[in-house]
Formats: sequence, structure tokens, C-alpha cells
Amino acid sequence: MGPPGAGKGTQAIKVSARLGIPQISTGDILREAMKNGSELGKKARSFIDSGELVPDEVVTGIISNRINNEDAAGGFLLDGFPRTVEQADALNVMLDSSGLSIDHVINLEVPDDTVRERLLKRAEIENRSDDTKEVITKRLENYHQQTQPLVEYYKAKEKLLAIDGNGSLDEVNLRINSALGV
Ligand code: AMP
Repeated sequence: MGPPGAGKGTQAIKVSARLGIPQISTGDILREAMKNGSELGKKARSFIDSGELVPDEVVTGIISNRINNEDAAGGFLLDGFPRTVEQADALNVMLDSSGLSIDHVINLEVPDDTVRERLLKRAEIENRSDDTKEVITKRLENYHQQTQPLVEYYKAKEKLLAIDGNGSLDEVNLRINSALGV
């Protein structure tokens, strides 16, 4: 978890490689669907391009299919999901029904000013349709309103690992590995 621009995607790739488990990113799956012009992509585009969250039932459906893939049988790392309390509740139900549970929730802590700067820099490199100034502001607003409550949610469940997300990729990665004990 963490605000947009916290480095979730980059760290998720590194951590999943270290643990030998797949990284499952709802953002990547949705972007791929948009590129392919599939029904899912068409449904998601207007939400993504305006900085809004895609409806819960859409992303919950994606995750429920994806975690049943064979490659996820030995565990998986979720990147960018859950993002609302409703999604977190749905995830609990899914995992419970398969006899699974969450080991850890990694929360990358980065102040708004820093993520804003990083996202504007990323806009120049990656050309993501949702990395414009207006959309970034909307995404941050939605993050605080809809996703941040999950920090307390997972803290209460004693799952949360709070990680300082400031610094270089390698510095942050070391902090995560050491918090996970890997
Ligand atoms: P990300 O790559 O994780 O920053 O996601 C990019 C965009 O995809 C977000 O701004 C949302 O519009 C959408 N998205 C990704 N994951 C979710 C999710 N779990 N719930 C709702 N929308 C999502």
C-alpha cells in the first residue's frame, strides 16, 4: 500500500522476485486491458483517466480470478489492491474461502509533496494518461479519502509493516526486506 507515486510497483517487482512469488497489480492488469481494447479496458478507461478508482466489483473480480491461477498457489504479492475497505473485506472473504490469509501488509509512507514531484517526473518518462497535474491531485485526494483508512484497518489486524518510502529504490528495498525478515 501507499499513495500513488510511493514506489509500490517498483518495490513489488523486487520483493516478489526475491520471494519467488507472482506480483499481481490491478493497475497493470487494467492498463493492459486498455491497451488491448477489451471490454474490461473500455470499462476502466474513464475512471483511470480521470483519477477515480475503478468500481470495487470490477477489481475484486480481477483479483478473484487471478489468485486462482496455478502460479499463485505458493503465495502472491498484491500491488495496488485492496484500495477501499469494501475491497479489503471482499479479499478477506476470498482468502477465507480458500483457507488462506494475509501474512503482511507493507505500507510505503511518502509525503504528498514528494509523490507529486515523483509523479510529474514519471509523466515525462512513461507517458501514463493519468500522470497529469489535475489527475494527480484527484488521485491523491481519492487516496486519502478511500484508501488511507486501510492503514488503520490493517494496523488493527496487526498485519501492517510501516516502511519509510523516502530515499533511493535500494534504500527502501532494504527496509522492506529487513521488515519482512528476508
Ligand atoms: P496504479 O497503477 O496502481 O497506480 O493504478 C492506476 C489506476 O488504476 C488507479 O488510479 C485506479 O484508477 C485504477 N486501479 C488500480 N487498482 C485499483 C483498485 N484496487 N481499485 C480501484 N481502482 C484501481
